[in-house]
Amino acid sequence: MIEDKNQQRTDLGALGEFGLIDHLTKHFKITQETTVKGIGDDAAVLDFKDKQVVVTTDLLVEGVHFDLAYMPLKHLGYKAVIVNLSDVYAMNAMATQITVSIAVSNRFPLEALEELYSGIQAAADLYNVDVVGGDTTSSTTGLLISVTAMGTVTQDDVVYRNGAKPNDLLVVTGDLGGAYMGLQVLEREKQVFKVNPKSQPDLEPYTYLIERQLKPEARKDIVKLLKDLEVKPTAMIDVSDGLSSEIIHICKQSEVGCDLYENKLPLDPQFISTCEEFDIDSTTIALSGGEDYELLFTISQDDYPKIKANPNLTVIGYITEASAGMHLVTRAETKIPLKAQGWNALSNTTDKEG
Ligand code: ADP
Ligand code: MG
Repeated sequence: MIEDKNQQRTDLGALGEFGLIDHLTKHFKITQETTVKGIGDDAAVLDFKDKQVVVTTDLLVEGVHFDLAYMPLKHLGYKAVIVNLSDVYAMNAMATQITVSIAVSNRFPLEALEELYSGIQAAADLYNVDVVGGDTTSSTTGLLISVTAMGTVTQDDVVYRNGAKPNDLLVVTGDLGGAYMGLQVLEREKQVFKVNPKSQPDLEPYTYLIERQLKPEARKDIVKLLKDLEVKPTAMIDVSDGLSSEIIHICKQSEVGCDLYENKLPLDPQFISTCEEFDIDSTTIALSGGEDYELLFTISQDDYPKIKANPNLTVIGYITEASAGMHLVTRAETKIPLKAQGWNALSNTTDKEG
């Protein structure tokens, strides 16, 4: 739909594996001082000196994690990088390098992979990470893309999921549920398009939601902001599977409970109106939608004055003793147990895992 179809179709076989790797990677530049050797040898060489190193990886599979009917390849490349950087930032670390591995069938021409790599390069440039390696192989079915991200953090700054304490405040960045509703809009347009290929979708009312789905950003800015504010979270996680699932991870690993307030959930007006249009409960989606790539963290109450004026940060509840359990306090002031629904419970047609 959105994709700008390339005219030229260069067969991958014409380049050979090494020609292809060279073609795809020749524009990558090294800017990180921790990169000693990037692409071109048997392995990359990195020197992190006295810093701690965080490593994270994600595998995206066509038909499971993305649908090329509405996901332009450039956006896919961008998103594959972002989902990994988000995990690095969730450790309160700064990302420094990535590797990118792809498996492709011969139904993809070179021009398609150029698109994919232009998205990878855009994300690497914007977030200032070096692409230092990868692997390229063929696939008999669809497209697979796996990104591994590395980053650095000092021992003092690293934040785990397990440090939340009773009375800590629960804070989330940005707003929630947008990426899931963006996917609902795109799925609906795909169905309409199947019935009537001439239909011109009006996506104008959903631009923010579609962007949240197709071009998510990772909250590097928040890691920097927290450092500037001299706030070290007691626990942190990124919101990839859905808010309630992430809160439950923090609570279980920290051995605490929590009260989460429905009326505090940060929701974009476009998200609210689209939920109404689809006749879906906005709280359910905000709690279980997933793919928002915001950061969820806990802070000591003493740090509240430092964050309270910031429009990027919303206090959505607080941590309790484990014995109090994990609850959502509804607008009607009733307490209901928090459940991790994630993707699978929302729809039996989508099966997405973090
Ligand atoms: P090997 O045979 O040791 O796996 P390759 O020929 O696959 O080596 O890779 C050569 C170089 O190109 C290595 O530095 C590798 O990390 C890099 N590379 C291979 N495929 C990709 C890719 N898809 N994206 C980025 N770098 C890649
Ligand atoms: Mg290889």
